Amino acid sequence: MKKILLLVLAFIMLCGCTYKAKTYASLDDYPVYEGNDMELTYSPAKSDFCVWSPAAQSVVLKIYDAAQDGEPSETLPMKAAEKGTWRVSVKKELLGKFYTFQVTQDGTVYDETPGIWAKAVGVNGNRAAIIDFVKTNPDGWENDVRPKMDNFTDAIIYELHYRDFSIAENSGNKNHGKFLALTEENTVSPKGEKTGLSHLKELGITHVQILPSYDYGSIDETKLDENVYNWGYDPKNYNVPEGGYATDPYNPYSRISELKKMVQTLHQNGIRVIMDVVYNHTFVGETSPLNLLVPKYFYRFKEDGSWSDASGCGNETASERVMVRRFMVESVKYWVKEYHIDGFRFDLMGIHDIETMRAIRAALDEIDPSISIHGEGWTAAGSPLADSLRALKNNAPKFYPTAVFSDDIRDAMRGNWTEGDKGGFVTGTKGYEESIKFGIAGATAHSQVDLLKICHTNTAYSINPFQAINYVSCHDDPCLTDKLRTVLPKASEKELLAIDKLAQTIVLTSQGVPFIFAGEEIFRNKKGVHNSYNSPDSINLIDWNYKTTYRDLFDYYKNLIALRKAHPAFRMTTAKDIQDNLQFLETDKNVVAYIINNNANGDAWKNILVVFNGNRTPVSYTLPSGKWNAVCLDGKIDLKGIATKSGKINISASSAGIFWAE
Ligand code: CA
Repeated sequence: MKKILLLVLAFIMLCGCTYKAKTYASLDDYPVYEGNDMELTYSPAKSDFCVWSPAAQSVVLKIYDAAQDGEPSETLPMKAAEKGTWRVSVKKELLGKFYTFQVTQDGTVYDETPGIWAKAVGVNGNRAAIIDFVKTNPDGWENDVRPKMDNFTDAIIYELHYRDFSIAENSGNKNHGKFLALTEENTVSPKGEKTGLSHLKELGITHVQILPSYDYGSIDETKLDENVYNWGYDPKNYNVPEGGYATDPYNPYSRISELKKMVQTLHQNGIRVIMDVVYNHTFVGETSPLNLLVPKYFYRFKEDGSWSDASGCGNETASERVMVRRFMVESVKYWVKEYHIDGFRFDLMGIHDIETMRAIRAALDEIDPSISIHGEGWTAAGSPLADSLRALKNNAPKFYPTAVFSDDIRDAMRGNWTEGDKGGFVTGTKGYEESIKFGIAGATAHSQVDLLKICHTNTAYSINPFQAINYVSCHDDPCLTDKLRTVLPKASEKELLAIDKLAQTIVLTSQGVPFIFAGEEIFRNKKGVHNSYNSPDSINLIDWNYKTTYRDLFDYYKNLIALRKAHPAFRMTTAKDIQDNLQFLETDKNVVAYIINNNANGDAWKNILVVFNGNRTPVSYTLPSGKWNAVCLDGKIDLKGIATKSGKINISASSAGIFWAE
């Protein structure tokens, strides 16, 4: 009897069925694996697979001939290896095949997952693809270089969505809504205005920040002809481009090579590319690729064991866990190295822990310190991780030099985001002057700014001005045109255009990093839809005929950008320079004025005076002594000079005046 038992035991051992899953007191006790061979190491002779899933009972590799449907051609058990990894090698050519992993843990057989480190996928990203990455590189890729940028305050960021920007028939593009639209040069609207890439060059921006480019889950890539739209804040495969923006989502090479081609073309035209990354949550929780591979590990949970939800999207990730942090760091590095990305915008960065954001900065510094990082220093709801540990706006000094969006200058200009029909400084609402001054000083400590009177903070969160992103609108909430129409339903279009110009003049002359939302330079609207994340193209598209209709507005933005680029005084790099050279002046209610002295930051202009009149009526303003050359007045900008002024002058309703003097 004993002999039989031993035989049975030996048989079970031979089958490899005796593996006893490791147990851990908590998710934080999982072992750390730091190898760089995650998931797939391919060569023609063999493919090595390695996944990290410490508490699994078993992991199986399935190999398929196709990206969807059909049975696996091979199902291979993986072997438990060091530090929570599981391994199997397939000693034959697997190029062109697809694969998934399937984890069993605590008696539950989880759905198959392409893993968390899939770098290529088939349609809809359910299976990882084995491809030859060399073939994804466009000609000349090895010579691709980042456009030069000395300081982040030199950046002028333009936020766009692939479909918004090129889906309209009158965009003049061929590749509507695709990565490749941004590779098309010399496109024009039917009325002869430059569109697409040529429009960006004409406007003069330095960076595009594009809404999510990684593979997301909300769009069915097999039904792209059904006019599907989503912003894409629902990540599925973090390290693969989205198939909906590829010309052929079924071909795993298409999305990769086309995104690279886009980056290369933008670089050739002097424009840097900022990737919008959403590591803070996934499209789904239970069935995300992350959770199917390492159940629970990537997420935070409440004390009662339920999923915490600081993202407002059903889950939140746990960057403070060592292997989640490592995943984020390695993923960001991967986008830089494989796709030549120049910067990152972290969605709901306030969910991530400070240590992770610092680790990401350190990793990028090793590659190129000019790769920028900024993010939303807030969350959508509460998180179980303490505020003091997370990358919230007011903690920005702890994760210097990473930048945060200034909702303070935004809401000071246009009104509190929670009060849709209430306005701010530019619409004539009084009481926001101090927050405007705070924004002008780039959210740095300035002796003339009273921190107790600022919209959403009492902290000068920027150590130096490049930590503040100044903006009046982005993809979230109403775009500027819709917001102004809501707040001032009786105002004429002429009045609204004047207010629009005033708002962007504040953005583009303030210390810090200016940011504009695509299409606002041509008075784009979203037909009053605020949260247009899944609205049809008809709501979200940029109508390029507007460029003809609102040519005056476009020229104003263009000149404003040219002004900023020509005058380093608006782009100071230290808080000390701002304190030493920028002085606020006494003004009437709802007027803010300041002077920048001393050829600040090497400017050719010795003294620069800026006056913002937020009132909807003209104001009389007495210039400091001497003669002042006006370059911006009454809604016009001309760097060569508009008029010479002295003494008492008129600043028209809702407008900016900019002057310089010897
Ligand atoms: Ca997708």
